[in-house]
Amino acid sequence: MEVFIEPIGRLINEFSKLPGVGKKTAQRYAYRIVQMPEEEVAAFADALLGAKRRVKYCKVCGNYSVSEVCDICRLRDKSVICVVKEPKDVVAFEKLHEYKGVYHVLHGVISPMDGVGPNDIRIKELLARLQEPVKEVIMATNPDVEGEATAMYIAKLVKPLGVKVTRLAHGIPIGSELEYADEVTLSRALSERKEL
Ligand SMILES: [Zn+2]
Repeated sequence: MEVFIEPIGRLINEFSKLPGVGKKTAQRYAYRIVQMPEEEVAAFADALLGAKRRVKYCKVCGNYSVSEVCDICRLRDKSVICVVKEPKDVVAFEKLHEYKGVYHVLHGVISPMDGVGPNDIRIKELLARLQEPVKEVIMATNPDVEGEATAMYIAKLVKPLGVKVTRLAHGIPIGSELEYADEVTLSRALSERKEL
């Protein structure tokens, strides 16, 4: 016999799919859900499905967006493009409230070990954006081996187009992720960026 009755076992199983949620936490969440008023559970379920159905990728920068082209791409200075690995890196920069340019989300970094080559990430989409006048491309991939290699690879393609390429200054601990850098460190890494 199963320890949990079927609907609760099923909920636990679903919650366990989330990052950082182990069996114990999943069990707590499941019990909480069955104790909640039905309207609250309905709102919860609606938020889950709504996010999944409404969130798509901006066709310009590749960040999450509810419209074809995101607000950042529509409203901001397009002459500076900050290139990041994933959507959550955009959030890290936006929290600084000081960067006024646009972004380009690669959705990965070059990693031969994991079978990820230059054609598997959004590099050609970046090059296509450089048909428009762009003053600077900031390489803001993580300061780890793959992030550095990806920054160098892209710099080699972009520089011959006459566009200045910069790299975040060091200060973010090597091997760590931008997402976890504190705001002062990230802000300094941005303002003290170096030309590649
Ligand atoms: Zn966009």
